[in-house]
Amino acid sequence: MGAIFVSETDPTLEDFIETALPNYKLICQPGLLDVATIKSPEEIEGLCVTVRSPVNGADMDAMPNLKIITTGSTGFDHIDVKEAVARDITVCNVARYGPAVAEFNIAQMLALTRKVHTAYMQTLQNDFTISGLKGRNLSGKVLGIIGTGNIGLHVGKLAKAFGMLVIATDPYPMPDADLEYVTLDELVRRSEIIAICCPLLLETHHMIGRAEFEKMRHGVLIVNTSRGAVMDTQALVWALDQGIVAGAALDVLEGEVLLPSARLTSVLGGAPGQDDVKTIAEDLTLIRHPRVLVTPHIAFFTVDSIDAIWRQTAENLKTYFEGNPTNAVAAPIRQSVQP
Ligand code: NAD
Repeated sequence: MGAIFVSETDPTLEDFIETALPNYKLICQPGLLDVATIKSPEEIEGLCVTVRSPVNGADMDAMPNLKIITTGSTGFDHIDVKEAVARDITVCNVARYGPAVAEFNIAQMLALTRKVHTAYMQTLQNDFTISGLKGRNLSGKVLGIIGTGNIGLHVGKLAKAFGMLVIATDPYPMPDADLEYVTLDELVRRSEIIAICCPLLLETHHMIGRAEFEKMRHGVLIVNTSRGAVMDTQALVWALDQGIVAGAALDVLEGEVLLPSARLTSVLGGAPGQDDVKTIAEDLTLIRHPRVLVTPHIAFFTVDSIDAIWRQTAENLKTYFEGNPTNAVAAPIRQSVQP
């Protein structure tokens, strides 16, 4: 039997994998994926990563017997799927794991409308005045959801409970969804709050750019838990400075993979000091913007969801090696042999 390699390991995940695949050797790395440090890469048949560890063709080449990459996330844009398929490697994700991300969307809407982050920063400075902290209700506001899959649909349900009017756009509308489908153009024109809940694909890269911001209502609020590159960062900064966007809660940033220092080492080709991390963070002007609330990609991160994510990750490995893969987002097409 071969080995399973786990980057950013977690004791619960290790337990689940050992139970699911007792005959496989488990090799765990506490940090982000760094193939250069793997001692016997030819043993590895399964690889577990998270969104913080991108996997490219060179990483796959370093593990010549790799058969499956499974990511502890729904999004899989950090894995070069085309390169994986070209090497006969199956890629799996965790398609759903409960309401954590949808609930986080609502938390961020409330944080923006009630200026919770600004109020908190002020009180830390011993400033208990309330001027500038007047908020807005969610009730009665028009929420535009971009992408009505598992997360977007649940955001819609929760938003309705707050009395919001929910409109949405999706190339594949859900027939029974209790919301009004509109074009992206109409959505950006009408929404008072926009929640981005679609995947990062070639078609969604920078789908919210300068042209879309120009059509938005002045004072719109934006919550992005999808992927940073769905919005054009420079255009968002422009729209914030113009006052078109009154506030943005961003759990994801374009280029966020550069922020952990371990990844910087490989990107910059040398050992970075704190200054390198600081420079990149500051280049992302958004992080310092007073009307922007940035979180470090934690929408999924609850006790409940992590358990479900690790359970499904182990299950993905087990079912793959049993010959019946679950959650495969890309698998090599094998020609069936006709008699
Ligand atoms: P999903 O696959 O269930 O739904 C995605 C929806 O987006 C689908 O209905 C799809 O048709 C739609 N879509 C595709 N292209 C679109 C377009 N051009 N315009 C509008 N809609 C489009 O996925 P999900 O579980 O709802 O997750 C959505 C995304 O959220 C993931 O791909 C991932 O990037 C992100 N995510 C982030 C976190 C986090 O912690 N921040 C956690 C989970 C997922």
